[in-house]
Amino acid sequence: MTEGRIIIFSAPSGSGKSTIINALRERGDIDMQFSVSATNRPPRDGETDGVHYYFLSTPDFEARIAAGDFVEYEEVYPGRFYGTLRSEIDRILASGHNCVLDIDVKGALNVKRLYGDRALSIFIMPPGIDELRRRLEGRGTEEQEWIEKRLAKAQWEMDFAPQFDRQVVNDDLTRAVAEVAAIIKD
Ligand code: 5GP
Repeated sequence: MTEGRIIIFSAPSGSGKSTIINALRERGDIDMQFSVSATNRPPRDGETDGVHYYFLSTPDFEARIAAGDFVEYEEVYPGRFYGTLRSEIDRILASGHNCVLDIDVKGALNVKRLYGDRALSIFIMPPGIDELRRRLEGRGTEEQEWIEKRLAKAQWEMDFAPQFDRQVVNDDLTRAVAEVAAIIKD
């Protein structure tokens, strides 16, 4: 059995990262098993516990930190914690599959530091901040206050891009998907 690798995707929210990941899934030619993160943020409409995230209360999240259950965790937005469970990575790698992480920039760089050559970190660049605002507002799932917070954060996140193994600009979805697929296959 060939050993699985860790593929880490990171991007400002609204950069089209989820769309790219979904398109890669649909291609079906790349082995990808998703690690389900834990978070203390409330589920959005259509999100299912154990599928999109493990939705935990804040005390439960803190208990998992204390138990050492996370490979990494970050307060991605004020009061909102997200963490990668060691059990998810171990389970997926042990089954021989590639383990895909969709996590914030700091978490991504921490996982890369921990796993070294076993991990590939990919940063998805949005085409620009105006386009990012348009996409976030079009999504209609968040209140304006949270959109502003995400935009401020996006600027900060883009400064980390050079520290990733690879950077892919999502100016054209089809092209970006092809580029990511080629990078992973390589
Ligand atoms: P959302 O609330 O939109 O689902 O996710 C917000 C941010 O949290 C995204 O940038 C996402 O990549 C990040 N995130 C999700 N899971 C994790 C995780 O396990 N660890 C870290 N560090 N960030 C995560």
